[in-house]
Amino acid sequence: TNIIELRHVTRSFEDGFSAVTDFNLEVKRGEFVTFLGPSGCGKTTTLRMIAGFDLPTSGEIFLNGESITSLPPYKRPINTVFQRYALFPHMNIFDNIAYGLKQKKTPKEEIVKKVSKVLSLVDLEGFEKRRVSTLSGGQQQRIAIARALVNEPEILLLDEPLGALDLKMRQEMQLELKEMHDKLGITFIYVTHDQEEALTMSDKIVVMSGGKVQQIGTPEDIYNEPANAFVADFIGESNIFNGIMTGKLRARFGGGEYECVDDVAQGTHITAVVRPEDIEITRPDQGIVRGPVISVIFKGMHYEITVLAGKNEYVIRDVRNAVVGSLVGLRVDPDNIHIMVSEDA
Ligand code: ADP
Ligand code: MG
Repeated sequence: TNIIELRHVTRSFEDGFSAVTDFNLEVKRGEFVTFLGPSGCGKTTTLRMIAGFDLPTSGEIFLNGESITSLPPYKRPINTVFQRYALFPHMNIFDNIAYGLKQKKTPKEEIVKKVSKVLSLVDLEGFEKRRVSTLSGGQQQRIAIARALVNEPEILLLDEPLGALDLKMRQEMQLELKEMHDKLGITFIYVTHDQEEALTMSDKIVVMSGGKVQQIGTPEDIYNEPANAFVADFIGESNIFNGIMTGKLRARFGGGEYECVDDVAQGTHITAVVRPEDIEITRPDQGIVRGPVISVIFKGMHYEITVLAGKNEYVIRDVRNAVVGSLVGLRVDPDNIHIMVSEDA
């Protein structure tokens, strides 16, 4: 069964603005689920409703099949790690982590044992006596995670927990969090606006925009089969063209006529999405479209090559270099053309 389920959850405010609209989601026990979307799309609001800090204006939230929609936060087996660490600066690490347990009147020896256990879990054994101010940003964030884990929650919510860290520390912590998740077997619901972070860490990604779920799927699903142009544009890099179906499994877009595998009726207006790594540079006479190379950027593992075919710019990722000004052809495997029916058609 699902550990968490959101059914038609909506949160609108007094001014009528809806931060989250008809949100549906099923989370399995032990899953690592990520809410991914640009700033302001409703990620934090959704997380706050799961934690119980905020209530839906309509819809229901279930935990293990029972409604917890209006259960207060402290009665939910759920803990949150916030964007800012929110540690108590005047307390040492032990007191920071033990805070919740003391409030629950947990026996002293048990608290000592539990604090030491979570400290080793976040690789900070023996830090009990240290002050918050003597820790680096990365260490403070680990303490914040330890403080959430000490309550042994069934579900850990993490709201952009690595946002304040520099890139190298962030990448290190991504791996550590993933390991921690696998080791503990508890359910993680993670929030980020960083698509790479989401792709790296998650079992399942919920792509959000404007308070609405755009797509739910594995990282591979989301990357390879984006449900709409928003997802295609937001995840990875994409060439996005408007076009029309010219026949069975044939579409015209981007200045050429392509074979495709999506069976959409002739005459339908479409949006076609092609990933930069899926475009092949050929001799001019062998391409479906052709044109001059207008820019080449070295990206370390590959080159980013832009070709102007008629009025259409194609961005291509290739391990081989190309010469600016030279004429090339472009072709795309039918499998790698993603056709979506235009919303405004
Ligand atoms: P995210 O975490 O994805 O950046 P939020 O969930 O924080 O987005 O916010 C979603 C939208 O809801 C934003 O436009 C925000 O301004 C709005 N919002 C959040 N809280 C309130 C509130 N209490 N009153 C009015 N609007 C709010
Ligand atoms: Mg937020």
